[in-house]
Amino acid sequence: MQCPYCNHSETRVVDSRDVDGQPAVRRRRECGGCARRFTTYEKVEEIPIQVVKRDGRVEPFRQEKLLQGLLRASTKRDVALSRLEDVAAGVEGDLRVELTYEVTSERLGQMVLERLQDVDLVAYVRFASVYRQFESVQEFQAELEELTKEGIR
Ligand SMILES: [Zn+2]
Repeated sequence: MQCPYCNHSETRVVDSRDVDGQPAVRRRRECGGCARRFTTYEKVEEIPIQVVKRDGRVEPFRQEKLLQGLLRASTKRDVALSRLEDVAAGVEGDLRVELTYEVTSERLGQMVLERLQDVDLVAYVRFASVYRQFESVQEFQAELEELTKEGIR
Protein backbone atom coordinates (compact mmCIF):
# COMPACT_ATOMS: atom_id res chain seq x y z
CA MET A 1 0.00 0.00 0.00
CA GLN A 2 1.54 3.25 -1.16
CA CYS A 3 1.36 6.42 0.90
CA PRO A 4 -0.95 8.91 -0.85
CA TYR A 5 1.20 11.81 0.32
CA CYS A 6 4.75 10.79 -0.53
CA ASN A 7 4.30 7.50 -2.47
CA HIS A 8 6.47 5.66 0.01
CA SER A 9 5.69 1.97 -0.30
CA GLU A 10 6.01 0.89 3.32
CA THR A 11 3.10 1.61 5.58
CA ARG A 12 2.01 -0.01 8.79
CA VAL A 13 -1.47 -0.65 10.05
CA VAL A 14 -2.14 1.17 13.30
CA ASP A 15 -5.81 0.24 13.67
CA SER A 16 -8.32 -2.18 12.04
CA ARG A 17 -12.03 -2.30 12.57
CA ASP A 18 -15.13 -3.73 10.89
CA VAL A 19 -17.43 -1.38 9.05
CA ASP A 20 -20.94 -1.62 10.53
CA GLY A 21 -23.18 -4.00 8.64
CA GLN A 22 -20.83 -4.42 5.72
CA PRO A 23 -18.31 -7.05 4.67
CA ALA A 24 -15.56 -4.48 4.89
CA VAL A 25 -12.66 -3.53 7.11
CA ARG A 26 -11.43 -0.01 7.77
CA ARG A 27 -7.74 0.38 8.45
CA ARG A 28 -5.70 3.32 9.71
CA ARG A 29 -2.23 3.22 8.23
CA GLU A 30 0.88 5.15 8.99
CA CYS A 31 3.50 5.88 6.37
CA GLY A 32 7.02 4.65 7.12
CA GLY A 33 8.44 7.59 5.17
CA CYS A 34 6.56 10.74 6.11
CA ALA A 35 4.71 9.29 9.15
CA ARG A 36 1.41 10.72 7.95
CA ARG A 37 -1.74 8.65 8.55
CA PHE A 38 -4.45 7.69 6.10
CA THR A 39 -7.46 5.37 5.99
CA THR A 40 -8.12 2.45 3.66
CA TYR A 41 -11.19 0.29 3.21
CA GLU A 42 -10.90 -3.35 2.31
CA LYS A 43 -14.00 -4.93 0.78
CA VAL A 44 -14.83 -8.48 -0.20
CA GLU A 45 -15.05 -8.52 -3.96
CA GLU A 46 -18.50 -9.70 -4.92
CA ILE A 47 -18.75 -12.29 -7.62
CA PRO A 48 -21.42 -11.19 -10.08
CA ILE A 49 -24.50 -13.36 -10.42
CA GLN A 50 -25.31 -14.20 -14.03
CA VAL A 51 -28.86 -14.43 -15.29
CA VAL A 52 -29.41 -16.90 -18.12
CA LYS A 53 -32.31 -15.79 -20.29
CA ARG A 54 -34.69 -18.00 -22.18
CA ASP A 55 -32.89 -17.39 -25.45
CA GLY A 56 -29.58 -18.33 -23.86
CA ARG A 57 -28.26 -14.80 -23.52
CA VAL A 58 -26.50 -14.10 -20.24
CA GLU A 59 -26.50 -10.83 -18.37
CA PRO A 60 -25.30 -9.82 -14.92
CA PHE A 61 -27.90 -9.62 -12.16
CA ARG A 62 -28.47 -6.04 -11.08
CA GLN A 63 -30.56 -5.21 -8.05
CA GLU A 64 -31.42 -1.73 -9.43
CA LYS A 65 -32.75 -3.22 -12.61
CA LEU A 66 -34.94 -5.64 -10.69
CA LEU A 67 -36.19 -2.75 -8.56
CA GLN A 68 -37.14 -0.82 -11.71
CA GLY A 69 -39.21 -3.78 -12.86
CA LEU A 70 -40.89 -3.94 -9.46
CA LEU A 71 -41.64 -0.21 -9.58
CA ARG A 72 -43.22 -0.60 -13.02
CA ALA A 73 -45.36 -3.46 -11.76
CA SER A 74 -46.45 -1.34 -8.79
CA THR A 75 -47.51 1.72 -10.78
CA LYS A 76 -50.49 3.43 -9.12
CA ARG A 77 -50.46 0.91 -6.31
CA ASP A 78 -50.01 2.03 -2.74
CA VAL A 79 -46.78 0.16 -2.16
CA ALA A 80 -43.92 1.59 -0.14
CA LEU A 81 -40.63 1.79 -2.03
CA SER A 82 -38.89 0.24 0.95
CA ARG A 83 -40.96 -2.94 0.57
CA LEU A 84 -39.93 -3.28 -3.08
CA GLU A 85 -36.33 -2.65 -2.10
CA ASP A 86 -36.71 -5.44 0.43
CA VAL A 87 -37.95 -7.79 -2.30
CA ALA A 88 -35.01 -6.98 -4.60
CA ALA A 89 -32.43 -7.16 -1.81
CA GLY A 90 -34.03 -10.31 -0.39
CA VAL A 91 -33.80 -12.14 -3.70
CA GLU A 92 -30.15 -11.21 -4.12
CA GLY A 93 -29.53 -12.21 -0.51
CA ASP A 94 -31.09 -15.64 -1.13
CA LEU A 95 -28.90 -16.20 -4.19
CA ARG A 96 -25.78 -15.17 -2.27
CA VAL A 97 -26.64 -17.38 0.69
CA GLU A 98 -27.01 -20.43 -1.54
CA LEU A 99 -23.86 -19.39 -3.44
CA THR A 100 -25.67 -19.27 -6.76
CA TYR A 101 -23.66 -17.50 -9.43
CA GLU A 102 -25.84 -18.46 -12.34
CA VAL A 103 -29.61 -18.44 -12.29
CA THR A 104 -32.19 -18.82 -15.04
CA SER A 105 -34.49 -15.84 -15.59
CA GLU A 106 -37.36 -18.24 -14.94
CA ARG A 107 -36.16 -19.21 -11.48
CA LEU A 108 -35.26 -15.60 -10.69
CA GLY A 109 -38.78 -14.52 -11.66
CA GLN A 110 -40.23 -17.22 -9.43
CA MET A 111 -38.13 -16.08 -6.48
CA VAL A 112 -39.30 -12.51 -6.98
CA LEU A 113 -42.94 -13.57 -7.27
CA GLU A 114 -42.81 -15.56 -4.05
CA ARG A 115 -41.79 -12.43 -2.20
CA LEU A 116 -43.98 -10.04 -4.16
CA GLN A 117 -47.09 -12.09 -3.41
CA ASP A 118 -46.96 -10.89 0.19
CA VAL A 119 -46.49 -7.27 -0.86
CA ASP A 120 -49.17 -6.55 -3.44
CA LEU A 121 -51.20 -8.96 -5.53
CA VAL A 122 -51.83 -6.60 -8.44
CA ALA A 123 -48.11 -5.90 -8.69
CA TYR A 124 -47.61 -9.65 -8.46
CA VAL A 125 -49.86 -10.33 -11.45
CA ARG A 126 -48.32 -7.55 -13.52
CA PHE A 127 -44.84 -8.76 -12.74
CA ALA A 128 -45.82 -12.33 -13.47
CA SER A 129 -47.22 -11.38 -16.87
CA VAL A 130 -43.91 -9.81 -17.85
CA TYR A 131 -41.48 -12.17 -16.19
CA ARG A 132 -43.15 -15.48 -16.56
CA GLN A 133 -44.26 -14.70 -20.10
CA PHE A 134 -47.38 -16.78 -19.97
CA GLU A 135 -47.59 -19.18 -22.87
CA SER A 136 -51.17 -18.20 -23.59
CA VAL A 137 -53.89 -15.80 -22.60
CA GLN A 138 -55.74 -18.74 -21.04
CA GLU A 139 -52.80 -19.50 -18.80
CA PHE A 140 -52.67 -15.89 -17.68
CA GLN A 141 -56.40 -15.84 -16.99
CA ALA A 142 -56.19 -19.04 -15.00
CA GLU A 143 -53.53 -17.48 -12.81
CA LEU A 144 -55.63 -14.35 -12.40
CA GLU A 145 -58.70 -16.35 -11.38
CA GLU A 146 -56.65 -18.31 -8.91
CA LEU A 147 -55.53 -15.06 -7.34
CA THR A 148 -59.00 -13.51 -7.41
CA LYS A 149 -60.25 -16.48 -5.41
CA GLU A 150 -57.65 -15.67 -2.79
CA GLY A 151 -58.90 -12.09 -3.01
CA ILE A 152 -57.02 -9.23 -4.56
CA ARG A 153 -56.93 -6.34 -2.16
ZN1 LIG B 1 4.32 9.12 3.25
